[in-house]
Amino acid sequence: MKVLLVNPNRYQHPPVPPIGLEYIAGVLEAAGDQTQIADLCFSADPLRDLDTAITSFNPDAVGITVRNVDTVLFQANEFFLTEIKALITHIRERYGLKVLVGGAGASAGPEFVRDFLGADSIISGPGEGVVREVFGGLSSANTNKVHFGSRAVASACPRHSMGIDYQQYAEKGGIAGFETHRGCSSSCIYCVEADTRVSFRKIPEVLAGIQQLHAGGMDRFHLCDPEFNEDLDFSLEFLRALKESRIKIDWAVYMKPANQNRRLFQLMKEAGVSLITLTVDSWKKCPLYWTEIEKIIFSARSNGIKIVVDFLTGFPYEDDETLNFYLDLFRRLRPDSVGINTYIRLYANLKVTEIIMKDADLKERLLGAVEDKTFLLPVFYNHIGPERLSGLLDNDPLFRVEGLDKAVNYTRTAGN
Ligand code: SF4
Repeated sequence: MKVLLVNPNRYQHPPVPPIGLEYIAGVLEAAGDQTQIADLCFSADPLRDLDTAITSFNPDAVGITVRNVDTVLFQANEFFLTEIKALITHIRERYGLKVLVGGAGASAGPEFVRDFLGADSIISGPGEGVVREVFGGLSSANTNKVHFGSRAVASACPRHSMGIDYQQYAEKGGIAGFETHRGCSSSCIYCVEADTRVSFRKIPEVLAGIQQLHAGGMDRFHLCDPEFNEDLDFSLEFLRALKESRIKIDWAVYMKPANQNRRLFQLMKEAGVSLITLTVDSWKKCPLYWTEIEKIIFSARSNGIKIVVDFLTGFPYEDDETLNFYLDLFRRLRPDSVGINTYIRLYANLKVTEIIMKDADLKERLLGAVEDKTFLLPVFYNHIGPERLSGLLDNDPLFRVEGLDKAVNYTRTAGN
């Protein structure tokens, strides 16, 4: 089978290489299929470039990745599905090809995403384990069900990066990515990754992927895992292996307040980690959570690793006391910066959405496309407005209000 894999993501703040397509291409190629990646990230005319890719490669089917439904930021939100829908309509109507959709954005309500886009089928979750079967069944009558992806623990899945111009990404401010695992065992009520099956990649294959990109000139990376410290033993093993490989890279990670010890931070420093983004939220936490925040910020700083906090707050029924507790905690711990977001993006299958939709008073605080029952069009819950937040932050330069610029932490701290 010949499969064209399309990256329609043209968001440039920063541009992000389509790592998910590289893994899907790797699986298909390893099984004997022919693949080609059409990366439209820098395309000035996506339809023309798509036509060129289809007519020159003549695929049997097309896969399209949806990285995000939108930017998840309330201010100056950008919604991506309309443009992707136009591409899919073009592929189906002009060429009669079946289109399979996957990617992280598919998890934001797979049936709704598939229907909005007019795709033939959709995979929610890691596609590697099922993608061949789904492509193989696309011509049957019953194609449009939702397929739930899975990947066996420690599965083999080499990357296939042909067709992605990493140098162009680097020139436009993008950096390379890699992942050590998929899924997250935490239960954050606002996150589509919550309680998803965790599966780890084989460490030698992760290193081989890094080595390949490093040999091609990439030396800055960001980790694409939901949170690096999902499993402390695995994280330590990976760091030891990267250090012993002698591949010299500078990389950024996301972490959650859990699963850490002093050795982890020593090894992170030795293996080239220069930036940690710690994901914190204020929804019903216990003292152990706050202790983990404290230990992680302290350990990062004492090992010379920059640490910034992404803090989501303003949950239903929360009062000023909760927010002030966290602000005081951060003022005392002094990470390098704290980005605060008080606009909670709702999706159909989230616990926080369920809580809000049961309470008429909470529903009064919804902003955006409140009539859209699919929650694909951007809708946010907010009860801490800009003026009140500004008053609470009191011009302390430690804090930054999220959503007022389009940067991400690894571009904000680049070169600092
Ligand atoms: S720890 Fe991070 S990835 Fe996991 S559920 Fe919470 S926010 Fe999502």
